Amino acid sequence: MKILKTTKELIDYRKSFTCSVGFVPTMGALHHGHISLIKEALKNNEKTIVSIFVNPTQFLAGEDFESYPNRYEADVKICELAGVDVLFMPTKDEIYFKDEPNILAPMKQSYILEGYQRPKHFDGVLQVVLKLLNLTKPTNAYFGKKDAQQLFLIQNMVKTLFLDTNIVPCEIVRDEYGLALSSRNTYLDDKEKKEALKLSKSLKIASQEIMRGELETEYIKVTMREILAPLHVEYIEAVDRKFNKIENIELKNSIILVATKVGKTRLIDNIWI
Ligand code: AMP
Repeated sequence: MKILKTTKELIDYRKSFTCSVGFVPTMGALHHGHISLIKEALKNNEKTIVSIFVNPTQFLAGEDFESYPNRYEADVKICELAGVDVLFMPTKDEIYFKDEPNILAPMKQSYILEGYQRPKHFDGVLQVVLKLLNLTKPTNAYFGKKDAQQLFLIQNMVKTLFLDTNIVPCEIVRDEYGLALSSRNTYLDDKEKKEALKLSKSLKIASQEIMRGELETEYIKVTMREILAPLHVEYIEAVDRKFNKIENIELKNSIILVATKVGKTRLIDNIWI
């Protein structure tokens, strides 16, 4: 496995690939969610590039940018053992310039839910993903459904900027109790981990209600809120797959999303209905 730290090295090395290339962008502290994306990339492409870059522009002031988990050595081992061809680990100065154009995520879908709670977060996400896609020029790029709104906005960017990459959505990986894996789960103590299970539980009950024929969003939200209590809920929402809010669940075209604080840790989860 090649470990590359500069954009120049990556651009040069990428030129030697004349085959299909899979790309998995991450912020590191790799877990089985990331590994599932990497495995998909390895399976369907001749070469696989993984990036680890904790992107400063997608963090708000006061968020965990400075303390974001760093597992450098374990991450390198994981990628090596998985069979990754290139691990790209740039510094901030490799990626960002003093003067550069602003990328603004479309207002309509980026100022709700995650975007409402974290203003400008998606501008930072799109800015870095666009740069990484231009650097790696992948045939296929892999993103988790765990970050459903992010996935939608990236698909929208790729379509509207005519980028020549296929975006592959990947299923949410959970632990044996249902907790969606996240690098931020390492912040949780044992008691908080138990509380955190309420997110997936509320989504599971919501899907059971829907299977029983209960399609009214408001009812589903109230049911979920009862399960999540007394956690601080930032949002519970149902949207269609284009992130328009909906009053009734449309089967095969809806996503129910939840964000809560568990202690000081912010957790998100969702289910595709
Ligand atoms: P991150 O390192 O948190 O920026 O995540 C990198 C990629 O992994 C994103 O596309 C995430 O959506 C995806 N991802 C994170 N957690 C999971 C999970 N539990 N299951 C599937 N994909 C995930």
